[in-house]
Amino acid sequence: MSCTHSHAGGACPLHGPHLSRRGFAKGLLASAAAASLAACAANPATGRRSSFGSIEDDVALGRQEHPKILAAFGGEYEDRGLGSYVQSLGASIGARTEFPNLAYRYTVLNSPIVNAFALPGGYIYVTRGLLALASNEAELAGVLGHETGHVTARHTAERQTQSIFAQLGLAILGIATGSQAVTDLASVGAVAYLQSYSRDQEMEADTLGIRYMAKAGWQPEGMVTFLATLREWSQLEARMAGRDPSSVDEYNWLATHPRTIDRVQSAMQKAAVASHEGRINRDGYLQQIDGIRFGDDPAQGIIDGQSFKHPVLRIAFEAPSGFNLLNGESEVTAQNPNGAAFVFDMARAQSSDLAQYIAGEWAGGASVSDLRRFTVNGLDAASGFARVQGNSGQVDLIPVAIRAEGSQVYRFLFIAPGGQAGRWNGAFTSVLNSFRRLSPSEAAAIKGFRIDIVNASGRSVATLARGLPFGSLNEAAFRVLNDLDGGAQPGANDLVKVTRTV
Ligand SMILES: [Zn+2]
Repeated sequence: MSCTHSHAGGACPLHGPHLSRRGFAKGLLASAAAASLAACAANPATGRRSSFGSIEDDVALGRQEHPKILAAFGGEYEDRGLGSYVQSLGASIGARTEFPNLAYRYTVLNSPIVNAFALPGGYIYVTRGLLALASNEAELAGVLGHETGHVTARHTAERQTQSIFAQLGLAILGIATGSQAVTDLASVGAVAYLQSYSRDQEMEADTLGIRYMAKAGWQPEGMVTFLATLREWSQLEARMAGRDPSSVDEYNWLATHPRTIDRVQSAMQKAAVASHEGRINRDGYLQQIDGIRFGDDPAQGIIDGQSFKHPVLRIAFEAPSGFNLLNGESEVTAQNPNGAAFVFDMARAQSSDLAQYIAGEWAGGASVSDLRRFTVNGLDAASGFARVQGNSGQVDLIPVAIRAEGSQVYRFLFIAPGGQAGRWNGAFTSVLNSFRRLSPSEAAAIKGFRIDIVNASGRSVATLARGLPFGSLNEAAFRVLNDLDGGAQPGANDLVKVTRTV
């Protein structure tokens, strides 16, 4: 979350157009006609006929969801040169698809996670974390090609998306409580787009993506080498976090796009392309990512294992194990696969009494009971309880406000399926007990990193890896970042990725 907290306007994205009964019937006839027309024409990318209208119909949905993706993944990465570079690569892939006139839009997200995804209609995203991991242009082209394949095959449009937030009915909740935090949380429904595709869809996206990237002149093998790097990196991240190396990060590209190197290779045979022909452009790519931020941006707070630390706000808290933390643009969310979640953000309170603030301002008309005043590590705090109707059953909410500077408050909104607040009480209490202020020296110790492209100049892996932020795993991380197998050394004049602190 960023330090400056602004919620201008806050137009609720959940209010769709309300059709009158007459209008609805008319619309129904019109869409039935459109569907029967569309059913006559097969999608040229897949050969399948669709009852979901045409790819042009997808564009409006993509445009509507685009701001939610930006909000959930740190916004657009502000480096104009890099953004236009990725867009130009994407555009040359888009031009080779069966829909060359679609306005493909490729966006770099300011997120350290390694992921890429697509919204219907040609909105495609790649994180700066993924860009830092890729080693050449062919690898990035493979990622963009695969995502573009999901768009042209219309997988996202066909898919029923559902996230834990949708199940909790937070879409309704945002309206019911008028709470900005809940409305924002509903926007995290964007995470639904990170759910897994089916294996068949993955095979289709690979086959299409390989065809597009080959036509655009990149070596299709880049799709395989990036997948290998990503697998190694996931295993390394698991070791860093002390997890089982076979476990994969929930937000990782592999988790949302379940595929193996074998399957990509068979897609390559299916696409009938020469896998080792075409350009890689390693040095050109490395120069493009020189200086890209690596890992969390401290100005937005960092996620360190189960901890969230914000060196500018000078606060920290811990999420219990089993909760996945996600650092969004204006809030931090944590969700547990068993249905509990919480949101952390900041707001301005008019009332000087925090219990009054919860009941009168934050709840926005919802009925809040069980108001209590207490302290959290020396800071004044208050909590309440509300049971509200979500769109798939009741939801228990425990809003907690903690006094910050002046009229500012820190807020936790704890969420559990209806009737289960008691079951999660221990977990929620542990989050509150862990909330504390950071000392100036603790805050100063939180450093950010950038990728630095340097000439190896004959130096060894051991020497080059020394400045990386992974301690005993520095050499292993350097090898994954630079595609060097165990024992291999970089060529005397090779460009390599190291990191520098900022
Ligand atoms: Zn995929």
